[in-house]
Amino acid sequence: MNHRLAAWTEAELGVSGRVLDVVRAPAPVLSTPGAAVDPTDASTVQLAADLVVTMRVSPGCVGLAAPQVGARVKVFCVDVSQHPKARDHHGTFVLCNASVVEASRNEKAREGCMSVPDLTGDVKRSTRVVVHGWLPGTGEEITVEANAFEARALQHEIDHCDGMLFLDRVAGAHAVYARQTYLQARPPDVIRSEP
Ligand SMILES: [Zn+2]
Repeated sequence: MNHRLAAWTEAELGVSGRVLDVVRAPAPVLSTPGAAVDPTDASTVQLAADLVVTMRVSPGCVGLAAPQVGARVKVFCVDVSQHPKARDHHGTFVLCNASVVEASRNEKAREGCMSVPDLTGDVKRSTRVVVHGWLPGTGEEITVEANAFEARALQHEIDHCDGMLFLDRVAGAHAVYARQTYLQARPPDVIRSEP
């Protein structure tokens, strides 16, 4: 447990976040590795606030990365605290230029993504990771150990920052599934009148 990270809240950023549109696959920005950012730059701080607000207004969203809002940089937010599969976790936080520095054995589990709204897939992820990155705003260096569901969320978001989707990590077409509940929740197609 990293107590500094657990104590972090978006109020530290000192700016109001804006709700941004979430980009969907196959938008090229989702398959482009993000550039490293200056964590103390005002644009990074604003992006961090925007990511947190956009995550919060999205039901069931446990993380959001900059490429998903069209920004080609390595910034993401995570918050698994409201998810039933979460055990120990660090609440809401944003990391810049993060990378996995240590990883344990893999476990396969079902995964989804706001940028791939119609599909889920079975993805092997490490159940315990050590991640290194920087806090937006103060630029503090953070090393965090994460487990279980939070570890999975971190790996998913770091992948986004490297231009990868969960679909790039599934074992094959047999490990991809239609998200039925989402499809059923859609409004019926509008019947268009002929011109
Ligand atoms: Zn995603």
